Amino acid sequence: MKITELEPLTTSPVTPRTGISMKALVYHGPGKRAWEDKPRPSIESPDDAIVRVTTGTICGTDLHILKGDLPSVTEGRILGHEGIGVIEQVGAGVSEFHVGDKVIISCITACLKCDFCRRGMYSHCRNGGWILGNTIDGTQAEYVRIPHADGSLHGFPAGGDEEALVMLSDILPTGFECGVLNGQVKPGDTVAVVGAGPVGRVVMLTAQFYSPAAIFLIDLDDKRLAVAKLLGATTVINSSNGQAADQVLKLTEGAGVDVAIEAVGIPATFDICQAIVGRADG
Ligand SMILES: [Zn+2]
Ligand SMILES: [Zn+2]
Repeated sequence: MKITELEPLTTSPVTPRTGISMKALVYHGPGKRAWEDKPRPSIESPDDAIVRVTTGTICGTDLHILKGDLPSVTEGRILGHEGIGVIEQVGAGVSEFHVGDKVIISCITACLKCDFCRRGMYSHCRNGGWILGNTIDGTQAEYVRIPHADGSLHGFPAGGDEEALVMLSDILPTGFECGVLNGQVKPGDTVAVVGAGPVGRVVMLTAQFYSPAAIFLIDLDDKRLAVAKLLGATTVINSSNGQAADQVLKLTEGAGVDVAIEAVGIPATFDICQAIVGRADG
């Protein structure tokens, strides 16, 4: 199912707003979501914070959920795992944040105490990880409950731009950490990025910290490719003719690229990456 096949957004009948209700985007199974009234969240554990969301964004993951790709997300779940907000309430165990603080919400909830958190592997936190908008209610709402607030929120810098800094919730760290750092981009490398959406652009921008020799940006959309070219792609390739992998192999004289980074999340783009990644010595 394509996202364009979603049912029209429905809203619940307008009900008088009380002190405990809020609006939220709620998942109701594949292709179905509604903007409706839900109870406001409350503190459930001493290390929780309640955040009033002021800026949010939509992730490709939300689109996967709406296509029905993630069975962990069940009917009635409030979507969203990215956002900026202001703390409304904190539990007695929260020490780093206070009511009124403006914060960046991490898409990853981290308890800071389990073995994985202590190894810096927060997305594998035994008491968190990616749970917002997945197994607990998320940020596409007026208010959200953030468990393990001390490890799951970041202070918002004074004078910061909310629309820019919301990229730090997920998009920038995903592109940089999962793509560029895990891909071990090195000076002189050839790097291919499949997907020129926000995550692919972050990969392309942050790969440049490591002075690669070439960055190939592959996408179906010429407008996105034009932006990629402005931001530093050395070669852009429109994959709509099904020839992208062949073109990359031709450009690398059959060797393939040193690093191939997938930034879309569908089988066709994984296939391109597998076809173009070169041999490694490690
Ligand atoms: Zn996301
Ligand atoms: Zn943990």
